[in-house]
Amino acid sequence: MDQANNTASLSKSKFVQGLQCHKALYLQIHHPELADPVTPEREALFRTGYEVGELAQSLFPGGVVIPYDPNDYDGQIARTRAEIEKGTDVLYEAAFSYDGVFVKVDILRQGKAGWELYEVKSSASVQPYHIPDIAVQYYVLTGAGIEISSAHLVHINGEFVKNGAIQPDKFFVLEDMTGTVQDMEDFVRTEIGKMKVMVSGGMPVIDIGPYCKTPFDCNFYGYCWQRVPENSVFSLRNKGVDKFALYRNGIIRLQDVPLDILNSRQRQQAEFFLNEKEFADRKALKSFLENVRYPIYFLDFETFATTIPLYDGTSPFQQVPYQYSLHYLECEGAELGHHEFLARPNVDPREEVAANLCLRIPDDACVLAFNAPFETRILRKLADASPRFKKKLERIIDNAIDLAVPFRSRYVYHWEMNGSWSQKVVLPLLANDLSYKGMEVANGSMAMDAYFAMCASRDPLEIARIRENLLKYCALDTLGMVRILERLRAIAEGGKITGYNQE
Ligand code: SF4
Repeated sequence: MDQANNTASLSKSKFVQGLQCHKALYLQIHHPELADPVTPEREALFRTGYEVGELAQSLFPGGVVIPYDPNDYDGQIARTRAEIEKGTDVLYEAAFSYDGVFVKVDILRQGKAGWELYEVKSSASVQPYHIPDIAVQYYVLTGAGIEISSAHLVHINGEFVKNGAIQPDKFFVLEDMTGTVQDMEDFVRTEIGKMKVMVSGGMPVIDIGPYCKTPFDCNFYGYCWQRVPENSVFSLRNKGVDKFALYRNGIIRLQDVPLDILNSRQRQQAEFFLNEKEFADRKALKSFLENVRYPIYFLDFETFATTIPLYDGTSPFQQVPYQYSLHYLECEGAELGHHEFLARPNVDPREEVAANLCLRIPDDACVLAFNAPFETRILRKLADASPRFKKKLERIIDNAIDLAVPFRSRYVYHWEMNGSWSQKVVLPLLANDLSYKGMEVANGSMAMDAYFAMCASRDPLEIARIRENLLKYCALDTLGMVRILERLRAIAEGGKITGYNQE
């Protein structure tokens, strides 16, 4: 429940949560202890939102901040009033309450015709779920006697390219949403009314549905989904059968799904899983492998992406490579070689990555990457940013082959893949002596966090430890590709998919 000295029972975020699912709102108010733990990804989103919000304040500089205090809504409202009465014309995080709803407004600015309201979002376009967020603020502020002349969504310009200090007027796009939110006044009033009645009663009976993940991952996912067994209709990958329709009809376990209603990929997933089967289309696999010729270079990048670009020439959300691992085989039977590169902390890594990579990969190399479209996108951006290496990088792109194809196309399929073709799933099946288990850095997002921790650290020992973990992780990705290629060749010649290196 909101703190005792907070007179509002709802807030902007709770209103938005209630629109997604009444039960989520009820649980948030009465049983917040049932919420899932906050993940590092979610924490990172909060941090980004905070940084973007601060940057947006510089669109209208010189304003007064009303600091957030979860224990004192009334105090924040009083401080906001006092600033308005004093004649302050730009407020950040201004607080208001009306009809039992407390809101904080990212930016409120006194214009010629009245107050202008600005809601800041860290996305590159207007999303439908942004609109009720602004509408409830408009409703509360007008109800609280503030004359709003316009309401805007401030989002990021996805086309922005950094060149020197970030210019907020180029980085952000302002969308006028005034008419839209004015039209939603009745809707907001009605929804608030329904939510207030709902939260003062018993827990609403709402079963799981598509809204559990749309528009946001619900905080109570773990609580509500605990009764869904591990191998259920929801394990089915890709588009196809309506999983919630099956669920509502009592078909929950994978073994209860009638196979004839599934499309071919989902049917194969279910059939193989239930019967523990494996399959190899050796003809298709052989024809794929015929394109893989020596010298073979196995490439994997690690990248970071930030909402606010760090380096000139980069855009919001752009993947910037800071590390690569490159195993190579010059010819059949040759000893496996390895090159790797990890950028120094806090420098734009792109030029060094490009230079180093071009030095290591010969012109005639066949470059294997697992999910190569990702690697080729990175290479293309590097080529655009580094004219000196453009030609060479383009050759690498031309020579790239996607090692994920046999799995994505299901030339090779094993029931434990359960519809997935990711390297993290495929590798332990094909070569169970290689594993990411127990590694301090064990996936791409952990690697990105580790890279930023390395950039923030001033402790040489810690920097050295993080470097070692990052190098170890990326090297395992390309060593894994080497092993996957070996295994695919063996499978093409009649070998089994699993059973290799089994203890
Ligand atoms: S997990 Fe789904 S059903 Fe449960 S509260 Fe969240 S949205 Fe509602």
